[in-house]
Amino acid sequence: MSVAVKLAPRKNERPEAGALLAWYDRHRRALPWRARRGETPDPYRVWLSEIMLQQTTVKTVAPYYARFLAKWPTVQALAKAKLDDILRAWAGLGYYARARNLHACAQEVAKRGGFPRDEEALRKLPGIGAYTAAAIAAIAFDAPSVPVDGNVERVVTRLFAIEDELPTAKARIKALAQSLLSMDRSGDFAQALMDLGATICSPKRPACALCPWNESCLAFAGGDQESFPRKAVKREGKLRRGAAFVVLRSDEKILLRTRPEKGLLGAMTEVPGSKWMHDFDPTKALDAAPKFRAAKWQKLTGVVTHTFTHFPLELIVYKTEVPKNTRAPKGARWVPIQNLSGEALPTVMRKVLAHALD
Ligand code: SF4
Repeated sequence: MSVAVKLAPRKNERPEAGALLAWYDRHRRALPWRARRGETPDPYRVWLSEIMLQQTTVKTVAPYYARFLAKWPTVQALAKAKLDDILRAWAGLGYYARARNLHACAQEVAKRGGFPRDEEALRKLPGIGAYTAAAIAAIAFDAPSVPVDGNVERVVTRLFAIEDELPTAKARIKALAQSLLSMDRSGDFAQALMDLGATICSPKRPACALCPWNESCLAFAGGDQESFPRKAVKREGKLRRGAAFVVLRSDEKILLRTRPEKGLLGAMTEVPGSKWMHDFDPTKALDAAPKFRAAKWQKLTGVVTHTFTHFPLELIVYKTEVPKNTRAPKGARWVPIQNLSGEALPTVMRKVLAHALD
């Protein structure tokens, strides 16, 4: 959205919670997990959506949220679910540790008879960090907490023209966000701040003319909104490389295995592969291939790339075919190709299979 109208901001006037809440009452987003006006928020739904929304967009989360709620309508139902079923339903949302923590947290909450109401107690539950604890406390229980995510950081650094770089500025941003809080409508205030960051105070070309706080915003006054928040130069993780082995059996089955429970992509499904290393030697890739008598490995053209939060990955892919009745090596299993959608395959493995099977 472009800003055609230049308002005259009045510097040094503090942003009023009331102005933001009045804007929220008119323009709040209708989100599947958000309680409608007059409805009491359901802590289970708030928690479930907040866990799913970590590092993921509203658009991506919506169908997952609907499926989870249909399958496990209460925290007790989720607590009783099998971890495998949860991982399968989660496949494609990424960051699989969240799905495992989701299960552990549901079990803990079911055992204690419900979610705790304050930030500190919420933080002790599996998978609930500072942001999520504040979001659940505010939205589900109207506690005086302000969840600060990237959107809120952007709004606050612009309002106060904070020159400190992220992440150093985080503590100051949190304190300033808290100082703006409306004590009588804490839950609405938190959601209003999220909505403002998500819809009006966008990273590029914020729609300041429509912003309820434009008269108090120092970045708007200076005309350099887009330069906030100031960020330290990001150092990317070092590239790791490896090999993946796609083995097809003549009766339309594919060789898969389950990753170890702990660690990256824990308990997810994968095709056999080498270790992922900075100093991977492609000339020795086949040393890590599953052993089949007389297997002819074909190295596929191109590589599969994927970026994890802390490193980029590049995989070369080998493919072979083996006769029907070939036994799976220890720790692996044959899965009919038509059943692949029921497997907890992380995105990187879906890319490998698409590369090999297309
Ligand atoms: S005036 Fe513009 S930059 Fe300032 S908070 Fe509002 S949308 Fe963001």
